[in-house]
Amino acid sequence: MKAIKDKEIAIIGGGPGGLTLARLLQMNGAEVKVYERDAGRHVRVQGATLDLHEDSGLKALERAGLMNEFRANYRPGADQTRIVDKHANILFDDSFAINGQGDLSRPEIDRGPLRDILLDSVQPDTVVWGSQFVSLDEQNGVFKIDFKNGTSAFADIIIAADGANSKLRKYITPIKPFYSGVTTVEGAVYDSANNSPNVHKLLNGGKIFALDDEKSLIVSSKGDGSLAFYTGCKTSETWADDSSIDFSSKGAVHAWFIREYLGWDNIWSELYENASTPFTPRPQYCMPFDQTWEALPNMTMLGDAAHLMPPYAGEGVNMAMLDALELAECLLSNDYPDSRIAIAAYEKQMRARASETAKMTMEQTEALHSANGLTHMLGMFEINS
Ligand SMILES: Cc1cc2nc3c(=O)[nH]c(=O)nc-3n(C[C@H](O)[C@H](O)[C@H](O)COP(=O)(O)OP(=O)(O)OC[C@H]3O[C@@H](n4cnc5c(N)ncnc54)[C@H](O)[C@@H]3O)c2cc1C
Repeated sequence: MKAIKDKEIAIIGGGPGGLTLARLLQMNGAEVKVYERDAGRHVRVQGATLDLHEDSGLKALERAGLMNEFRANYRPGADQTRIVDKHANILFDDSFAINGQGDLSRPEIDRGPLRDILLDSVQPDTVVWGSQFVSLDEQNGVFKIDFKNGTSAFADIIIAADGANSKLRKYITPIKPFYSGVTTVEGAVYDSANNSPNVHKLLNGGKIFALDDEKSLIVSSKGDGSLAFYTGCKTSETWADDSSIDFSSKGAVHAWFIREYLGWDNIWSELYENASTPFTPRPQYCMPFDQTWEALPNMTMLGDAAHLMPPYAGEGVNMAMLDALELAECLLSNDYPDSRIAIAAYEKQMRARASETAKMTMEQTEALHSANGLTHMLGMFEINS
């Protein structure tokens, strides 16, 4: 590991990408700290479940020696997918991963347990909680990193793993993401069996894709008895701000849903009547397919920070974990004489892979929110089943 010999590495962001990298580097003796904005590991991890793919997310976990932990925590059956129309008629019902013999092909895991597995795999005190990155300053090849809580840290190499709204990306490239045309509004219902019994029944422990009228509604069951959901609508980039909707009010968001999803079945109202607040509106962005930049000797990025894309192809977490694996391999390899060459090798393959996936994801985003969205989705699943 010539490229990082005697170097201190600071990973900013303890999401799946940053933590996977920390684990892989530490397994090989590197000096690593992870600076994470969250106050502690027990901060509730929100969001839909994640399906890990064999050639990316699972490959990284396997190389990190964490497959036993994964097997103990994934959710057999959570991959069951139901495609429904706006009236909640089931048009397709299938299970991809679980074939009765516990086989893993696209198994689902909740974000919380995945984060716990990765956190438990790194050395104690690796993660410095409550460290929200604010700015950095480089002097004589050493970075001083400043956090919002007034603390600072020093490092030789920085890895930006701080997700979609990365504050570090601008130190590497001025290239900005473009708006995909779709804005999501995310919500959650705790104890869905009691709080949204009909949707809970329809979910059957898996996922629902409801598509119609150029809109989507995706619902996932979670292992703690809650469900997560998000709407997807074609809007202007600034719709969430311009709409004046109070996203902390169940009533206001429900009223918007009824207006926007006019003609959709009453069953969906259950999601809004007992949802926890606030809801999160998220204009969905994508990095340009042809982005490129000159490699730096001491800073790079991975995951959403590097190649943000909409969630409609289910690739984001898988890409972040594969980035971590490929970056670890480049930094640890003896083939590269210095860190700039190692970083350049990683970035070249990462950008090429991300570009292909981003193109496919944007096609999928457009197709699902087109007049033929439902037919498109049914076609995809029928081909794969
Ligand atoms: C609604 C929705 C559904 C999705 N569904 C899927 C799916 O089914 N499958 C899939 O593969 N992907 C999905 N994704 C995408 C996936 O969540 C991301 O691609 C993935 O989490 C990226 O991992 P990451 O480690 O790069 O970033 P993140 O998971 O975003 O982690 C970034 C970390 O950095 C921390 N951080 C942020 N800013 C700072 C700062 N300034 N200082 C310090 N720390 C900071 C954050 O707290 C967080 O812990 C979905 C995304 C959304 C929004």
